[in-house]
Amino acid sequence: MKRATSIVALALAALISVYALFLRPKENSIPSPSPELLAAARPLDTYDFDLVLHPDSNQLGVTMHACFQNRWSETLPDIVLRTWAGAYASPETSPAASDELYNRCYPNGFSEGGFVLHDVTINEQRVTPTFDDAAHTVLRLPVTNFEPGQWCEVSLRMVLTVPDCLHRFGRSQGVWLLGNCLPILSVYEQGAWRTDAYAAIGDPFVSAVANYNLTLSLPERYTPFTSGIFEHANGLYTTTLHAVREAALLVYEQSVTASIQADGTRIVCIGRNKQQAHKPLQIAKEVLKYYNQTYGAYPYPVLMVAAVPFAFAGMEYPGMIWVGENLYGQGLDDALELTVAHEIAHQWFYALVGSDQFRHPWQDEALCEHAMLHYVRARHGAGAYDALARLRIAAPMQENIREGITPGSPIDSFHDLEEYTTVVYGRGAAMLQALDVHTNGRVDDFLKEYVRRHAFALASRQDFEITLADVLKEDMRELLIDYLDTSM
Ligand SMILES: [Zn+2]
Repeated sequence: MKRATSIVALALAALISVYALFLRPKENSIPSPSPELLAAARPLDTYDFDLVLHPDSNQLGVTMHACFQNRWSETLPDIVLRTWAGAYASPETSPAASDELYNRCYPNGFSEGGFVLHDVTINEQRVTPTFDDAAHTVLRLPVTNFEPGQWCEVSLRMVLTVPDCLHRFGRSQGVWLLGNCLPILSVYEQGAWRTDAYAAIGDPFVSAVANYNLTLSLPERYTPFTSGIFEHANGLYTTTLHAVREAALLVYEQSVTASIQADGTRIVCIGRNKQQAHKPLQIAKEVLKYYNQTYGAYPYPVLMVAAVPFAFAGMEYPGMIWVGENLYGQGLDDALELTVAHEIAHQWFYALVGSDQFRHPWQDEALCEHAMLHYVRARHGAGAYDALARLRIAAPMQENIREGITPGSPIDSFHDLEEYTTVVYGRGAAMLQALDVHTNGRVDDFLKEYVRRHAFALASRQDFEITLADVLKEDMRELLIDYLDTSM
């Protein structure tokens, strides 16, 4: 008996040490992508980016090798890449230089950004690229015999100039904001590539998910971050991002990070000081757990929450959100929590289920406002929800808005950010609130199914309506027209 016990004890001890050595998730190990994510990533286009940041000259060297498949039913005469960084070259085209944004984004006066392009090849043949627009955001490359199902390899080099600017692409106070600045394939639909302008209001981006292999070199005193964990060896930072709609990077001259696990996801909060790294940790954990439960599992192994010097409250990228540093100050805890909750909601409504953010901005923004409000109700109770809904939904419904401007309007129809926020966020969320009342609280059941059906794809308004009718067993199109398309 005794002997048996000691054998059992020995065996147990051995098992425990094996577990400790090999099985226990290590705090510093690189979290692995889920089988679902790897399965979604398998058929996708791939970008290999070799990046070199030269902080002293404000330049980012970019070498891209990308493999794209013709996923449409026609032979394509050309390929269009969106090179959004081009718009930052002049005040006439910069999305940060509109009347209401100029002083907020360029506190030190206009700073020239943009890029110079070199050596564009398709399948190793040099091609002559052209730009459709003065802003140089629509790069058109001729291609021959690019038939349905075929793959082609596009390579190019470019040198980006990073402007002194507190926008998606810019630098300030030792932080480099590298969002929407790498070339990305446009979306082809109804016989044409999307060529929307880099509007100053809203997020004018529409893109498909793809895989990214990133390699970055930069001076030693800088630390880069992206939506995955960088491996650092021999002076090079490398990582692979699976099935993401965009690859954004941040580089800090001085950074502090803090991390926490939530439902198997590693949440990493980044800032320029300890307070910025620690403050959103617990909020992000609660938010992520609530959305996991309500809308289905967060798809990526890592979620980055970064405090950045920024002219806006927040910005979403797949696997990473940016939060304006101003929100980390005293007395702003509620504003920080709401921003973090809204931006993390974009991981479901934008990153996972993409939509046409130019023509139907409500389809991600209103959904994120709704998700944020329901998170507040679950976390802080009905009183907190009612107070916030009065502010974020009821008040926007009372305001005077120009005739013809509705939550269903495209982003280029709005005059200013206030009008855009009131109508698309506030009145758009009113549509979801009305649906929730009408269905006795079943809107989140519908949204969970909407995410399940359209994960990693681009969902149209029709996809939204069809899923809604299927889940609710009722045609809700009239309610949608009432709220989304009717002036009031
Ligand atoms: Zn948003």
